Amino acid sequence: MVVGVHRPTQLVIDRQALRQNIHAEVERLKDGCDLFMVVKANGYGHGAAQVAAVAREAGAKGFCVAILDEALELRAAGFNEPILVLGVTNPADAPLMATKHISATVAALDWLQAAEQYLRLAGTADVLRVHLGLDTGMGRIGFRTVADLKAAVDYLEDAQTHLLFEGIFTHFSTADDPDDAYFKGQVAKWHALVDTLPRRPRYVHVSNSATSLWHDACNDNLVRFGVAGYGLNPSGVAIPTTPYPLQPAMSLTSELVYTKRLQAGQSVSYGATYTAENDEWVGTVPIGYADGYERRLQGFHVLVDGQLCEIIGRVCMDQMMIRLPRQYARGTRVTLIGRDGNQRISLQDVADYCGTIHYEIACGFTQRVPRLYIN
Ligand SMILES: *Cc1c(COP(=O)(O)O)cnc(C)c1O
Repeated sequence: MVVGVHRPTQLVIDRQALRQNIHAEVERLKDGCDLFMVVKANGYGHGAAQVAAVAREAGAKGFCVAILDEALELRAAGFNEPILVLGVTNPADAPLMATKHISATVAALDWLQAAEQYLRLAGTADVLRVHLGLDTGMGRIGFRTVADLKAAVDYLEDAQTHLLFEGIFTHFSTADDPDDAYFKGQVAKWHALVDTLPRRPRYVHVSNSATSLWHDACNDNLVRFGVAGYGLNPSGVAIPTTPYPLQPAMSLTSELVYTKRLQAGQSVSYGATYTAENDEWVGTVPIGYADGYERRLQGFHVLVDGQLCEIIGRVCMDQMMIRLPRQYARGTRVTLIGRDGNQRISLQDVADYCGTIHYEIACGFTQRVPRLYIN
């Protein structure tokens, strides 16, 4: 997909906001605890390499991504810090990961055995760094029993030449919930598994943003810091207080490219679902669902000149219409996410209207929307 540099629609990413969020978190960590910035899905839509650069400045010691290609993107951009792939990779890619010093998440013994075969065949000089994932209740990937964990650890420690036991971790499914009953159950399962280890690997980690913000640690030494680094509250609105203010880094702006006076009784957009009751000013904004601005946002609002303006009619693939309080010139700024005057529209507001979470909206903006980095 091309990047729309000749269109006035853009995501504005405030590096200072990213820097302050990440730095505030680094400052809170106890001695010996590192922060890896999670930059999967193009840095939650903010731009992986750009976010990684700011995170490193702010004190991040490494990065987490979801898939191998995202790790390779960071290596190609010149990042030499540790990178952990959080998802399951193909054991056939073990030699590539070893050569690039990319750490793999492992959830099964047969993966280790297969990877060992590929590494032996490839004759790579580098070892593959491995983090064992433990499933303590997330139900996604990971070892679930002491016996399975022990078999994997024994295999790793058994004088293997090609595998290095670098880390062990789990992931909490309700760390952003004010009710911590399920969370406590996961902590108990974590201890039941991890406390059986004959030795601790370099990295022992349990914390995503929500865990780090709102729960006491489990004697871990690495935080996988994601959404809060982007200035978004992991809980949405369920837990409003955070140890430091979170500053949203992402804004979305465009311009009016066309305006007109609509007569009472005239309709707008596909399906003619909106009909003007009175004569009114209407502006066209060059953004649509192909940009990740969802079709469900019909009836929501944007900001023009510090005022809320309703999105009227269906959001099209590439354009949409808004009702203006008066005539405005072509080229007038439209703020879809962010602040204009005394008004602000947050990613949370957009997500609420769409019936989803801000994570999904942020990473849903497509490549067609250019990212502009400020500060
Ligand atoms: C995405 C992810 C994180 C980061 O979560 P946030 O809620 O964005 O902080 C941490 N750990 C794992 C395993 C993840 O998949």
